[in-house]
Amino acid sequence: MDYRQIIEQIKGMYPAYAAQGFVPLHAATFSGNEKKYLNECIDTTFVSSVGEFVNRFERDIAAYTGAARAVVCVSGTNALHVALMLAGVERGDEVITQPLTFIATANAISYCGAHPVFVDVDRDTMGLSPKKTAEWLAGHAAIRDGQCYNRRTGRRIKACLPMHTFGHPVHLDELVALCREWHIELVEDAAESIGSLYKGRHTGLFGRVGVLSFNGNKTITTGGGGMLLFNEENIELAERAKHLTTQAKVPHRWEFVHDAVGYNYRMPNINAALGCAQLECLPAYIDSKRAVAAEYADYFGNRPAGIEFFGEPADTRSNYWLNAVILPDHEAQIEFLTQTNDNGVMTRPIWELMNRLPMFAGAECGDLSTAEWFADRVVNLPSSVRL
Ligand SMILES: *Cc1c(COP(=O)(O)O)cnc(C)c1O
Repeated sequence: MDYRQIIEQIKGMYPAYAAQGFVPLHAATFSGNEKKYLNECIDTTFVSSVGEFVNRFERDIAAYTGAARAVVCVSGTNALHVALMLAGVERGDEVITQPLTFIATANAISYCGAHPVFVDVDRDTMGLSPKKTAEWLAGHAAIRDGQCYNRRTGRRIKACLPMHTFGHPVHLDELVALCREWHIELVEDAAESIGSLYKGRHTGLFGRVGVLSFNGNKTITTGGGGMLLFNEENIELAERAKHLTTQAKVPHRWEFVHDAVGYNYRMPNINAALGCAQLECLPAYIDSKRAVAAEYADYFGNRPAGIEFFGEPADTRSNYWLNAVILPDHEAQIEFLTQTNDNGVMTRPIWELMNRLPMFAGAECGDLSTAEWFADRVVNLPSSVRL
C-alpha cells in the first residue's frame, strides 16, 4: 500500500512543521506567560521547594478541573505511586489495570510491592473494560470480611487503576459501580486526559484519587510533573498526600522531625511557574487539538486505505491528546509506520502490552483479545497544538 496521500494530508495540516522537514508527534507549545513567570522565579530566587507558584498551580488546577484539592508532584509516575498508597495498596496486594497503557501505570503498582492483574480494554474507549472486569472478578474473586480476594492467589485485590487512553475517558459509571460492589478502591490514571470530560465532569474525580501528568509530551507541560486530584468526599486525603510528598516532615520552625517514611516528590517552584502559564493556555490548546481531531475524523471518514479514525466515546469530551488510527492489520501498521517516519511525519505504534514485558511476564491476565487486536493495529498521528 502507498500512503503518500495520507502523508501529504498530514503535512498540509501542519504546514509550519512540514516546511522545516519534520512533523513531530506532539511538540510542546509556549505561547503565554511562561517566560514572565520563569523570570519571576529567578528574580526572586524562589526556584526550588518554596514559592508561591506551587500553591497557585495547585489552586488553578483544582479550579480548572473542579477538584476540591490538588497536590502537585515531581512526575505523574510518582503521583501514581502516592495515589495507590493513599488508596491503601500494600505489599502483596493485587491491583487491576489494563495491559494497554504506558509503563508508568504498571510500575507504580510495583513500587507499592503490589501485583498488577491485567484485564482487557473496550473497543470504544481503548481503556479498562467494566464488562471484562466484572467477568474476571466473577470468575476469580471472592469477598471475605469486607475485602476482595483473588481465590487462586489468596491475595487481596485492593484497587482498580483504569487509564484514559490518549485522553478518551473509560466507562466510569460502570467502573465506579463495579468497584463499590467488590469493595475495591478506584484510582484513575488520568495522566493523558487533562481537560477530558466524562458526562460533563473532569476525569480523575470519580474514584478515591486521580492523577494528571505534565511531562514534556503531554497536553500541557511543566518540564516534568504530576498532580493528585481529590474530590470533596476524599479531601482529607489531600493533607496526607502533601505530607507524604514533602518527606513527611512535622511542621516546625527549626526541628527536623519526620513521622513516616516520606518522599521528596514536591514539584519545584520553577516547574510550577511553567505550569501556571501553560494552564492559562489550556482551553485554547484543547480547542486546537479538537479541531485537529475533527480534520482527521473528516479525512479518514471514508476509510482511505482501510484506515479507521478512533473518535471519542459516547458521553465524553476528549482532549484528543494523541490522535489514533486503526490500520487493517499488523502488516499495514508496520508499513504505515515505515512510510510516515521515512517521509518526515512522526508516527508511532501504541505501547507494547504490559504483560509482554519481562517484568510482568508472570502477571495474572484475563482474556486480552481486544488489547491484542489494538496493539497490532493502532498508530498515533501528529497531534501538536496549532496556533
Ligand atoms: C505520561 C503518563 C504517566 C506519567 O508519566 P510521567 O512522565 O511520570 O509524568 C502515567 N501514565 C500514563 C498512562 C501516561 O501516559
